[in-house]
Amino acid sequence: MEPGPWDECCAFCLQRYIYEEERRCTRCDVAVCPACVVLEGATGEPLCPPCGKAYEEDRRS
Ligand SMILES: [Zn+2]
Ligand SMILES: [Zn+2]
Repeated sequence: MEPGPWDECCAFCLQRYIYEEERRCTRCDVAVCPACVVLEGATGEPLCPPCGKAYEEDRRS
């Protein structure tokens, strides 16, 4: 692995990312990388992919 600030591994896409760019899901508090974070439409709150999917389904029903 090349040296650098890539010191976190995303649980969703399994890519390494910069710790400073980590987001936390507001629903389940899991760490999400910037590529996987889902921003909730209304509030812009960061969600993890499963919570983002659940949110979309909630909104539709
Ligand atoms: Zn990711
Ligand atoms: Zn979540």
